[in-house]
Amino acid sequence: MQPDTMQRISILGSTGSIGTSTLDVVARHPDRFKIVALTANSQADLLFQQCRQFKPSYAVLLDEPSAKELRRLVSDAGLDIEVLSGMAALEQVAALPEVDAVMAAIVGAAGLRPTLAAAHAGKKILLANKETLVMAGNVFMEAVHASGVMLLPIDSEHNAIFQALPRGYDGDPSANGVRRILLTASGGPFLKLSLSELERVTPEQACAHPNWVMGRKISVDSASMMNKGLEVIEAHWLFNADADDIQVVVHPQSVIHSLVEYVDGSVLAQLGNPDMRTPIAYGLAYPDRIDAGVAPLDLFEVASLNFSAPDFDRFPCLTLAYQALRTAGTAPAILNAANEEAVAAFLDRQIPFLAIPRVIGAVLDELSVGSVVCLDDVIGADAEARRAAQQQIRKIGR
Ligand code: NAD
Ligand code: MG
Repeated sequence: MQPDTMQRISILGSTGSIGTSTLDVVARHPDRFKIVALTANSQADLLFQQCRQFKPSYAVLLDEPSAKELRRLVSDAGLDIEVLSGMAALEQVAALPEVDAVMAAIVGAAGLRPTLAAAHAGKKILLANKETLVMAGNVFMEAVHASGVMLLPIDSEHNAIFQALPRGYDGDPSANGVRRILLTASGGPFLKLSLSELERVTPEQACAHPNWVMGRKISVDSASMMNKGLEVIEAHWLFNADADDIQVVVHPQSVIHSLVEYVDGSVLAQLGNPDMRTPIAYGLAYPDRIDAGVAPLDLFEVASLNFSAPDFDRFPCLTLAYQALRTAGTAPAILNAANEEAVAAFLDRQIPFLAIPRVIGAVLDELSVGSVVCLDDVIGADAEARRAAQQQIRKIGR
């Protein structure tokens, strides 16, 4: 491969589950990918190890004291890396002129501004940070369309759907013969628990996912099935599908990553072992296919695939997400912010697991929904929903 076909990449959230899997794939293909910037929240030690291995031009930590520590480590090691801190620096490395592609893998609302900066700067975006689309779907998609950015979904379900849609899908389901999107869900670690059992589950149990190794926030979202709710909203924006045309299908083996149903009765699926390096490699090399280090799928070992309808009574987060999508405007941003606060409070043992949907439901009932014209509408709704969620959390915690 010629040096000018080298893809230069910024990774937002390089120390997380998606970030480290991305670096694993990148390390397998030094002839294709060059890391320009690595970023994290506050993990100076891990970011330093990554800096030693990948020698980026920039390393960013949100937290300034941690950045100071990283600066010391980098200088002691004699590395020529510019260490920056703060949100503006995250936005800066997402938009550098020398960067071709940005892996958006920060968790939560914190990913919104830098991901949007990448879109405005016209970078190819590998989107793992689903919260960006949930909070600010129309603002983000407008930026994507305005700058003609290539947007590649990394969430395994959306990556599967992307692969099962016609190449060059133009966002018009009916013109492409698409009838429905079937979004698979493992059901998480609590798929079979009763409501009374769900009342007592711990953060440790919630974070022990049967099929996927992920960060703590998305692990809790998977356990409550809010993750699937957020993914329904994500699918709406990515593929221009109505809520009624996105069907969640519980599939505990996580082998079929999602499906597209066409009007002629064809249903196209993408299968594979549950390993995020597959969608990451697909996004990195698109439209090529490259080795991702993923073991081949052994269908004889899998032996059977099971499917069932989701249980909206035991997993009310799914209902709340569909409602927020149908309400539109700032409702999904309110849902997302209330969920982030409630999940953090659950992980911190301030509230029980089933209080997560109660907090979100109460916040959605309490706040009035506005329209989203610009980013400030989203930021305002996010802040208001966090305040309202904290009030609910204090009430429950007493
Ligand atoms: P994680 O918690 O493992 O990693 C998050 C990364 O973001 C870390 O590098 C962390 O330092 C950084 N970060 C956290 N808070 C930050 C802040 N305030 N400012 C700047 N950086 C911050 O999370 P993850 O599991 O890798 O998930 C990342 C994103 O990808 C999430 O949006 C998640 O929903 C999505 N996703 C993850 C998976 C998965 O398998 N892990 C699958 C699909 C989608
Ligand atoms: Mg997913």
